[in-house]
Amino acid sequence: MTQYPIEFTGILRFPKPPKDKKGRHYPTVIRHFQLWIFGARSPIIRAMNVILIHPREWGQNTTTGQLVLRDERYRHIREVIKPEPGDQLRVGLLGGLLGNARVEAIDNHSISLQIQLDSAPPAPLPVTLLLALPRPKVLRRTLQACVTLGVKNIYLINSFRVEKSYWQTPFLEQGPLQETLLQGLEQARDTVLPQVHLRKRFKPFVEDELPVLLQGKLGWIAHPTADAQPCPSGLVDPCLLAVGPEGGFIPYEVEKLVENGFQTIGLGPRILKVETAVPALLGKLFV
Ligand code: SAH
Repeated sequence: MTQYPIEFTGILRFPKPPKDKKGRHYPTVIRHFQLWIFGARSPIIRAMNVILIHPREWGQNTTTGQLVLRDERYRHIREVIKPEPGDQLRVGLLGGLLGNARVEAIDNHSISLQIQLDSAPPAPLPVTLLLALPRPKVLRRTLQACVTLGVKNIYLINSFRVEKSYWQTPFLEQGPLQETLLQGLEQARDTVLPQVHLRKRFKPFVEDELPVLLQGKLGWIAHPTADAQPCPSGLVDPCLLAVGPEGGFIPYEVEKLVENGFQTIGLGPRILKVETAVPALLGKLFV
């Protein structure tokens, strides 16, 4: 059975366009300007390469059916894709198949789709990522890159150089985290959400949980030191990859991971930002 990392509340939650004090929607141009300032979170300008539907709203165990959308997905389709009746859109059932939707009708309130689900989502990467929690902005970008590249198992871990306050960020709450993961899926045309686990204590995680996670797998620590071996490539077997915080892992943490059987790997002498290091490592290891 497919597991969702976070419980969905209601239908897929997409952010609503902002309103002014009188409850009116801002004109699009102002909305774009605002979004540009506040981090472009609107579906208006997000890449929606697939329209995701939730099993709960699909509500049927079949591969064909009809669905009427009235929420942000409808607004995105209408304002960005601007389809005519008869046009085809890409759709995906969360945790299930991808397929096509034929536009039956579209008016000022809703769009009616005739859906046919017929193909598997892209294969996941065989990696479990252990990511020392970066600051929220970097976390958001890094997670989106991970989801887009197909990482399905992510442990956000503590480390000496992780600022304590990062654990308090509202971004780690269900809504914003879920929105980021969904945006990653929509970008990649994928349907399977990753599992995101929060581990606020390094030592118990490494001593109690890591040996089980590592069983039968190789573990790599990305650590840009002179003695790190060059990053391998073309991996197909499941493995674990640990990426440090913005200040790097401290020697004690590297030792603890090495005690568990991890090996240090590097991408060369350049020190990369976390958000650059993660996709570069995943690219080199697998893609
Ligand atoms: N200030 C730290 C670097 C931190 S960069 C130092 O000087 O060591 C943040 C994380 O990105 C690192 O912990 C590592 O996991 C990863 N990283 C950055 N550049 C890398 C490289 N060239 N090779 C491998 N990993 C790298």
